[in-house]
Amino acid sequence: MSEIHSIDLRAQYARIKPEIEAAIDRVISGGIFIMGQEGEAFEKEFAQFIGVSCAVGVASGTDALTLALKAANIGQGDEVITSAHTSGATITAILQSGALPVLVDIDPQTFTLDPTRIKSALTGRSRAVIPVHLYGLPADMVPIQEFASSYGFAVIEDCAQAHGAEYHGKKVGSLGSIGAFSFYPTKNLGAFGDAGMVVTDDPELAGRVLSLRQYGWKARNISEEIGINSRLDEIQAAVLRIKLGYLNRWNIRRIELAARYSELLTGLDLTMPVAPQGYQHVFHQYVIRTAERDQLKQYLADKGIQTQIHYPLPIHMQPAFSKFGRGEGSFPESERACKEVLSLPLYPEMSDDMLERVSDAIKTWFIR
Ligand SMILES: *Cc1c(COP(=O)(O)O)cnc(C)c1O
Repeated sequence: MSEIHSIDLRAQYARIKPEIEAAIDRVISGGIFIMGQEGEAFEKEFAQFIGVSCAVGVASGTDALTLALKAANIGQGDEVITSAHTSGATITAILQSGALPVLVDIDPQTFTLDPTRIKSALTGRSRAVIPVHLYGLPADMVPIQEFASSYGFAVIEDCAQAHGAEYHGKKVGSLGSIGAFSFYPTKNLGAFGDAGMVVTDDPELAGRVLSLRQYGWKARNISEEIGINSRLDEIQAAVLRIKLGYLNRWNIRRIELAARYSELLTGLDLTMPVAPQGYQHVFHQYVIRTAERDQLKQYLADKGIQTQIHYPLPIHMQPAFSKFGRGEGSFPESERACKEVLSLPLYPEMSDDMLERVSDAIKTWFIR
């Protein structure tokens, strides 16, 4: 039987090939590859999709977070509160800004920052909080925002896994002071390489990012402040414009597949993903938990079914980041999650039959 992969970007390309080829050809024939019409148009279209007034394209999701922090004047000597269960990219971005990460444990049901624990991370140097909308599920933003406004913090949303996810009717990215998106190829909206976007309703913050992403220029060749080079190129923007037109349909299909998994896996000794009332999960990943995760993963691999672990180690147990915790036991829910989570294959082009094959294999394993 054929293999079932975690994601299949070739299947996606096969369905939109003519449109993508035309878009790429338009860029190449036009001869403008950096800072042109495609990038500007994509910024406008993406801002409109999220429901904010400003969007600024950058070179990656990590840079989007870093530049969001810098635009909010966060850097050396400052602390940024975030989740102990996230991509290392979130932490890399904080460190790249010059600030230090201060970790908080997750809510084990939602895998997102537990708002009741934020206060324990507070020091005189705290300046911002980065909620991560992990796996496509929004973090619990109301208490996070209340906390942030009572202390005058910036809220910078890590939206890298949640393009189109909604929290009480508003899209993630429009909830905090700034939102940071990644268009890494495997995300819900993915480029053909690296790309990212900063979104905000604050024109001043957007202006800072515009300048910082290109050497701190206000006018061409005149650096007003110290910036970096982090631009979204025209080919990526043209590809992303085409794909943005499909994002809603793709997310709907992800939600449909997730519902089918939850239906077929009911009654087994595993925990399925939940979305609290008023949250629209967009299932970047469909993540189950089981104490026998490693054995199940191996069993599925033997059946030709690929799965992933997001993530195998919490932040504070990774060698580079160990100084941001007090060793094993610092963040017990994040540590337990990393031992139990398993991301099942899920992507919009996955067929119902493929999903049933995965579900059947899991059932067989649990009922063995
Ligand atoms: C992918 C990801 C990022 C970083 O995005 P890149 O484009 O790879 O730099 C940041 N945070 C989270 C949660 C991610 O999943």
